[in-house]
Amino acid sequence: MPTSSKPPSGPHRGGRPSSPPSGQGRGRPHHRPEKVAPDRTEPELGPDGLPQVSLLRRGVDRWQAGHPWIYRADLNGDPGLQGGEVVRVTDGRGWFIGKAFYSRQSKISLRWLSFDDVAVDEDFFRQRLLSAQALRQRALPGETTYRLVHGEADGIPGLVVDRYGDYLSVQFLVPATEQRKALIADLLEAQFKPRGIVNRSDVSVRNLEGLTPEKGLLRGELPQGPISFDEGMVRVRADLLDGQKTGAFLDQKENHIMAAQYAAGEALDCFSYVGGFALQLATRAQSVTAVEISDQASAQLRENAQANKLSNVNVVAANAFDFLRDAVDDGKKFDTIVLDPPSFAKNKDAFAAAVRGYKEINLRAMQLLRPGGHLITASCTYHVDEQAFEDMLASAAADAKRRMQIIERRGAGKDHPVLVNLRETRYLKCYVLRAM
Ligand code: SAH
Repeated sequence: MPTSSKPPSGPHRGGRPSSPPSGQGRGRPHHRPEKVAPDRTEPELGPDGLPQVSLLRRGVDRWQAGHPWIYRADLNGDPGLQGGEVVRVTDGRGWFIGKAFYSRQSKISLRWLSFDDVAVDEDFFRQRLLSAQALRQRALPGETTYRLVHGEADGIPGLVVDRYGDYLSVQFLVPATEQRKALIADLLEAQFKPRGIVNRSDVSVRNLEGLTPEKGLLRGELPQGPISFDEGMVRVRADLLDGQKTGAFLDQKENHIMAAQYAAGEALDCFSYVGGFALQLATRAQSVTAVEISDQASAQLRENAQANKLSNVNVVAANAFDFLRDAVDDGKKFDTIVLDPPSFAKNKDAFAAAVRGYKEINLRAMQLLRPGGHLITASCTYHVDEQAFEDMLASAAADAKRRMQIIERRGAGKDHPVLVNLRETRYLKCYVLRAM
């Protein structure tokens, strides 16, 4: 195990190495294979009584390179913990390098909380929530519907909080936040005085953490029917408990409003949900065809169109892949097209299939556009990054024999900050293209 002659000191000092330094110089290349500690039955405790988790060299390098996740293979043995603990992270010499949430079942074992030896207590989470709120007040002044906490990107891994006016919709995605539900709900109540907090932890990623998906009312009262919120000139209604995600797709909010600017003539919105894009298109276009496979979402979209007195929206409950293919076969044309499908790849292995899926719908959309028409095309698949997405668009344009211009390269709204050291937080791409 690499050791150093320099004694641990300063604020980063942590539990001492169990064996004294052997005199091997700092920074020397480490030729000897690392000895992996035996799996523990009793967790090792640090000076503040918190369990310690020590990393192998690769894990230390990763941590020091700023990555907020450490994988199981980079731990120095099994720390013998239950999962959900706040732990002290130590390097190969036993020196403190930070604090993290520990997960036992997930491949991601550690999620960064701090580089410093601070107490991770109620006040710690209160400060993180206040900091998250400060960003939204700065970036989105006057807004009352936004993502308040975007997990690791707001320094609280495994927690998502969406605010819909007087209601909050929350996801607890890792054991550490699941076990601190009451604390987090207390803090949210104190800070926001919401009428209700809905728990929308009914997501399959919880299975990877050994948690079962669940949903229900966490605090206060449920809204009577769907809640509503404004997006530009449009009022959107969505159901917090029975809608998709936390009720709506707030990550596209700024893109919805942007889309109105490009709307003209005959417009098509595929994968519409409750109409985030379709309603905006309808404020400017002559007609909008909205294609959505879910009957429940289609019904809500019809209601939303009516409530906004947008009688030019035609909702088609259908598979968008089939709709696009048939539209091309029938020689239909549109002036504005939006594609905002669900994620096509939950893991790396599905990358090729995801790209094929994106290419199919984008190719058809390009075939359907009139000259001068706009394509607003999104992908929320993290594994398909901007480069892969643009390559796909180039290949689709070539096959469609269309010249396409990129007008805008956009992402999620400002309430979905991207952590520079965690590419996963930059998952949403939304491009505006124009057909020449
Ligand atoms: N555009 C929406 C969000 C879309 S989420 C917004 O901005 O608010 C993806 C939507 O696609 C979901 O509503 C889902 O029900 C729908 N969907 C999934 N597969 C589909 C398919 N094959 N055809 C049409 N809709 C589909």
